[in-house]
Amino acid sequence: MPTKTSSIRVAPVALHRGFERRINRVAVVKSLRRRVALTMGVFGVIVGVGAGLPAYGQSLEQPVTVPQTQSLAVVNTPDTALTIARDTYTVYVPPALQYPLAPGTSLSSGFGPRQCNGCSTYHEGVDLTPGAGTPISAIAAGVVVVASSAGPLGVHAEIEHVINGESVRSVYAHMETGSLTLRVGDPVLVGQVIGTVGDTGNSYGAHLHFELHPQGASAVDPYGWLAARIG
Ligand SMILES: [Zn+2]
Repeated sequence: MPTKTSSIRVAPVALHRGFERRINRVAVVKSLRRRVALTMGVFGVIVGVGAGLPAYGQSLEQPVTVPQTQSLAVVNTPDTALTIARDTYTVYVPPALQYPLAPGTSLSSGFGPRQCNGCSTYHEGVDLTPGAGTPISAIAAGVVVVASSAGPLGVHAEIEHVINGESVRSVYAHMETGSLTLRVGDPVLVGQVIGTVGDTGNSYGAHLHFELHPQGASAVDPYGWLAARIG
């Protein structure tokens, strides 16, 4: 069987005998090196795979993933099954909009033009008289934009709301001294107590003066506006 060594021997160029022997030895050594390298490579692959290590020829810096399998057996029989007893409960979902006082609360002065001694001739809100100390509720969720005890409105708060996409400001005036604990910037939930009915500021007796200003504009009849939306 012809080999690389024999092909060199039949080269047409006549070579010196000593030089020819050196060439032959080099060819034999190269052939042996290839066989040894091939054998070591195969051995390296077999050993590497068997030991769970990188196979021969792979870089040692490559991550080695060793699969791990865990199993968890859960045993549950009818004898050990748990029965969870829960109390009944009721979830109260408040309406998005409500009146500041209980429906049916008496009004002492309606919205609009009026004639009285010492008061404005055009009433910007309504006056409600549920009795001194009655809690006053926010008509909707919003943010406090005014919290003051000064001026003709006495202890009063103004809350900015967005109701059905419309910005509305509500005003609660003449509340009892010390009943207003909210500050400007405070968030308010619908129905949250703002303060109690009082007689502070330019007032003629304990009552709530209540105003509504849609879109930050002029006041509208607040109870008419609420009634059209509360139903
Ligand atoms: Zn009033």
